[in-house]
Amino acid sequence: MADNVIESDIDFIKDVTRLGGSSLKKCYQCATCSVVCSLSSDEKPFPRKEMIWAQWGLKDRLLSDPDVWRCYQCGDCSVYCPRGAKPGEVMGAIRNYSFRHYAFPGFMGKALGSAKYLPLLLAAPVILFLIILAHLGNLSSVPAGDIVFAKFLPHLYVDPIFITVSVLVAAATAIGITRFWKNMNKNNLQGKQYGKTSIVNSIVLAAEEVLTHNKFKKCDANNIRYSGHLIVFYGFLALFAVTTIVFFGLYVFGLELPLKLTNPVKILANIGAVALITGCTIAVYNRLVRKDKSGESYYYDWLFLIVLYAIGITGLLTELVRLSGYASAAYWSYFVHLVLVFFLIAYFPYSKFAHLIYRFAAIVYARYAGLSEPVAETTSETIETKNVA
Ligand code: SF4
Ligand code: SF4
Repeated sequence: MADNVIESDIDFIKDVTRLGGSSLKKCYQCATCSVVCSLSSDEKPFPRKEMIWAQWGLKDRLLSDPDVWRCYQCGDCSVYCPRGAKPGEVMGAIRNYSFRHYAFPGFMGKALGSAKYLPLLLAAPVILFLIILAHLGNLSSVPAGDIVFAKFLPHLYVDPIFITVSVLVAAATAIGITRFWKNMNKNNLQGKQYGKTSIVNSIVLAAEEVLTHNKFKKCDANNIRYSGHLIVFYGFLALFAVTTIVFFGLYVFGLELPLKLTNPVKILANIGAVALITGCTIAVYNRLVRKDKSGESYYYDWLFLIVLYAIGITGLLTELVRLSGYASAAYWSYFVHLVLVFFLIAYFPYSKFAHLIYRFAAIVYARYAGLSEPVAETTSETIETKNVA
């Protein structure tokens, strides 16, 4: 019997309201949202059920609900909601809450969720790199001669910092995802067996969805969001690939930096940076100019977007200034770029950046547990027949 007790969490309702779900009380359960959502399945529609769960403060159900992560916040449902309850934003707010809930250590989740901790979070890498510069005597004057960033902040100092941070972040992310998976298992299977799809096949299907954005593409009212997200995603992947190649190039093949502009790795880096800036520009435009379609933006949204944008801009700027020969400007631009990269990596499990891994886990789980069936194209016919009971 104890399993059937519904526990309402009032603080959870307040938190979801603060994190972007301020309109959730307006919902009167008409189900229009579940009908218009092209990602929602007939067997297990969303986001209507999430709206009532959020109104009731059913925190456990929502935090273990893979459907929360199958939503790409395209806004189709918010546009059609007759009550202005903005279900797309409520789903986003629940995801924002999840970053904090599954965070390890917990205080980091709290820190990333509030603007008042931002100066402290930024100060950590700034102070760290300033100490290294002071130790090397590069604080008062930058190295003379050719502009080579390794003379300013040598790999010997920077790489161990990033390797250590990456290992800690990987461990923290694994703990968060394990908690999430266990929670989904506890609340969704309840003694039942997994579905018929193997875990490997589930991973392959999830990877296909993430890499092709094939579900995101179905978004209608705000499809510019799909374009921006896709460009940012591939820009980031290109830069990640470049970082990995350069790292192994340095330590295994004795690669010398800086790379020539005609080097294929350099070309890929520049394409990645331009893509990142272009995609972020689309995202910022969408959030600022098309508010009626994209909905309101909140701290979590802006923090991640601005950091990503600033990384793209400072990366490109650093290269341009280096090529123009202004040593001081090039070195300090590199410093800012490095601080931002540290911010992105070190705080990955607690920022909106973590949606990448939580969404992937939720899609894999939904497939593996047999909770997600192939979604049919939404047509006027399916809108009429969709089971929203
Ligand atoms: S369309 Fe709006 S009012 Fe209707 S169920 Fe969805 S959120 Fe609630
Ligand atoms: S925001 Fe888009 S994907 Fe999310 S529930 Fe609404 S219609 Fe579906």
